[in-house]
Amino acid sequence: MSLFHYLTLTWLMICWPTLSIAAEGQESAATDWCSRYGKLAPLAAVEVASGVFLIEGQLEEVFASSHGHVANVTFIVGETGVAVIDTGANVKVGCRIHRTIRQHTNLPIRYVINTHVHLDHIFGNAAFVSDTPIFIAHEKFPTALAAKGRHYQARLEAKWDAPQPIISPTRLVRRQKPMSPKQQNRAKSKKDDSGLDSVQPGPAAKRIKSIVLGKRVLQLEALEKGHTDHDLLVLDVKTNTLVAGDVLFDTHCPVIDGSLLGWRQILTNLRSRRVSIFIPGHGSARRTPQALENTDRYLARVETEVRVAVHKQLGMMKASLSLAQAESHRWKLCDIFHARNIISAYAELEWE
Ligand SMILES: [Zn+2]
Repeated sequence: MSLFHYLTLTWLMICWPTLSIAAEGQESAATDWCSRYGKLAPLAAVEVASGVFLIEGQLEEVFASSHGHVANVTFIVGETGVAVIDTGANVKVGCRIHRTIRQHTNLPIRYVINTHVHLDHIFGNAAFVSDTPIFIAHEKFPTALAAKGRHYQARLEAKWDAPQPIISPTRLVRRQKPMSPKQQNRAKSKKDDSGLDSVQPGPAAKRIKSIVLGKRVLQLEALEKGHTDHDLLVLDVKTNTLVAGDVLFDTHCPVIDGSLLGWRQILTNLRSRRVSIFIPGHGSARRTPQALENTDRYLARVETEVRVAVHKQLGMMKASLSLAQAESHRWKLCDIFHARNIISAYAELEWE
């Protein structure tokens, strides 16, 4: 064997596992990312509505946290399987979430839904790869993942000293205008065997707007720019539970990474919905729209004060240290996120 062949063979032996993950992605049933961790302790899950379980994240900044369990995770159990919505900030937390689910049901985990790309919500995805679920996200999620994924991965691997693979969505949810009742009926008759609704024939058939777990239907809604430019809402029709991701914040300081004005419009639209239980991206599930009203109150105060500052040409940095202070003190972790929010709002509003 020539030196070249020997080196090639050695390289293939070392790199093949990585290559096969890249080539086959999450479809590979062989990759059990949890096996390395042995038996992990499950997390506390509360059944907030029939078959809807919330694993509430800790109110901490992800890099200051010891486990990376800072974002809310919801799992919904239907007759034929389970959907998991968000998966935590690293593989190990994802594995603990997986164990938690297995304490409640042995049904197959058929769907993993990411509400948006922020690292505290998606890096537990790998824990579910061996279940071969369908990974679902907003149609703009892949662009955001391409822009931020590697940076997030490097930071998380440095913090937890373990591989944190990036798992991409296999189905996307397209933004769409609200459908008329006639269009809704037509869409209903298009359900395919997999329980996925086809939006359009051809390449767009991979795009979906709801998933079915037996008699349980989860509606998926891809939003316009708000908290980010690719937020996804999940509504469990059976219990009217809205899993809102970071479109709603409770107790944890809101984070603006999209558009303040767009976000406020989304909240206005949400007010008219019939929702029984609101699950925010951070904080507690509630039967009242408290998280919606509090999030909007925060954004409204930021908007008002930033508009005045722009008018007075106060300057972005000065504004970030002085505006909406009374409001920022009403939330946890605003010492980390508030100044950044003011800068984001300033950049958005100064060119209006
Ligand atoms: Zn977020």
